[in-house]
Amino acid sequence: MDINLTAPNGKNISFSTGLFINNQFVKGSSSESLASIDPATEDPICSVEVATDADVDTAVQAARAAFDNPAWRDLTPEQRAALLHKAADLIEAHKEDLFTLQALDVGKPFPASMHFEAPHTAGCLRYYAGWADKLHGQTVPVSKDKFGYTLRQPVGVCGAITPGTSRSPPRPWKLGPALATGNCVIMKPSEYTPLSALYLAKLFAEAGYPPGVVQVLNGHGRSTGEALVNHPGVDKIAFTGSVATGQRILKLAAGQMKRTTIEAGGKSAFLVFADADLEQAAKWAISGGFGNAGQICSANSRILVQRAVQQQFLDIFSRMARASKVGMPFDASTTQGPQASKMQYNKIMGYIESANQDGAELVMGGGRYQDLGDKGYFVQPTIYKGVTRDMKIFHEEIFGPVLAVTAFETEDEAVALANDSAYGLAAMVFTENIKVAHRTAARLQSGMVYINESNNVDWKLPFRGSKQSGLGSELGESGLDAYLEEKVIHLNLG
Ligand code: NAD
Repeated sequence: MDINLTAPNGKNISFSTGLFINNQFVKGSSSESLASIDPATEDPICSVEVATDADVDTAVQAARAAFDNPAWRDLTPEQRAALLHKAADLIEAHKEDLFTLQALDVGKPFPASMHFEAPHTAGCLRYYAGWADKLHGQTVPVSKDKFGYTLRQPVGVCGAITPGTSRSPPRPWKLGPALATGNCVIMKPSEYTPLSALYLAKLFAEAGYPPGVVQVLNGHGRSTGEALVNHPGVDKIAFTGSVATGQRILKLAAGQMKRTTIEAGGKSAFLVFADADLEQAAKWAISGGFGNAGQICSANSRILVQRAVQQQFLDIFSRMARASKVGMPFDASTTQGPQASKMQYNKIMGYIESANQDGAELVMGGGRYQDLGDKGYFVQPTIYKGVTRDMKIFHEEIFGPVLAVTAFETEDEAVALANDSAYGLAAMVFTENIKVAHRTAARLQSGMVYINESNNVDWKLPFRGSKQSGLGSELGESGLDAYLEEKVIHLNLG
């Protein structure tokens, strides 16, 4: 189970591939294992242990014991905050190893991880450390003889199911609020990207979290994931992934009325009005659309441009997009790495084919990125224009570097096009007119609206989807709610 490897950046990394239960790496009870494939080379990196129903049960029992263990249960808020700070310190100290492993496993460019994810991961944990001693309830003087107050208490054992995408934020977004509020967490990473969560969990143990508070179980969604959702000892599921899986989890969780938060996919509209600063709009469309090789849930994958400036915008946008550098994850000049998995790569190729068949006009890209040879899941940054409401690429989430451009004439038409979606994760509005921005933001059916920027996530603000994009919030103060149960105390003084 112990692996030692040298990555292309020369880093020597040691890690274990076991299930992480009770602060130890252990073998699973099945002989099955899960291969982690380097998406840049298609070479196997290693295999990890797979958790069976019995292993899920062992981890849940450990988490239940930890939840009731005074070593965790009775910590003061200040002590819970100190542990989160310590975990953040260790992430900062070991960020090169952690994000090297992630770059190998997921294909995310290493320089981008060091620049954004490392500080984001540690910063998000520190933000929630700050909340640990501010979890107040309410006091209600009901009458002369009666006083009421509320307590906000941890939910219990939380399953954190995360997707196979090229970034780890879903983990600190869940671990931060869960641990600040005194819960125990069992992480179930994607079967396509199983490695970095194992390394992360080890850092939490080193930080001093008691056994059973932070655990990791790798395995497939339909088996390990469902065993976690179905286990009666799990009080809450925090899920990030596709709408279809979110719906399945909701159905399973309903039987036990299990607390469930869902962060699902999106088809976020990016509105460019004629008065917008087009250079700025194009710059943000690139980072919010092609960043992480398009594997961002809130990617601005539908670009709606006022017809009067469509050509001018497309010229700037495609010029900037051509400057993107598709390359190997450890190459310093790489801005776009491979897709995280073959499954995802094949799905994107299917959408490119459907766009061509549906008559969308190709502006650039439109296929495999060939310059790196025939290995690796590399896709060209791709832009289609003339995309209409009846086309698949207008409605369906591609989760890759393929952006659809549609022209509009009026503000009303822009809002109608943007709202014509089953999703409602994010929307972006580019205009120099504050009245248009304000009015449009209020009318867009999405959990988040960015004005003159895109996907500039900040942990101090909630991250949430409306419609089929989600249930509940992560990040910000509201990100705590899903990890707390409110209890009402009636005190009779008569
Ligand atoms: P996915 O839904 O296929 O898998 C997500 C996770 O769910 C994986 O860990 C998987 O093993 C698990 N899973 C699958 N079936 C399950 C089941 N029946 N029961 C329990 N667990 C199950 O998603 P993906 O392809 O890994 O990731 C891409 C999706 O994630 C996209 O739709 C993207 O928009 C979404 N996403 C959303 C956010 C957000 O914050 N809203 C962030 C990143 C990604």
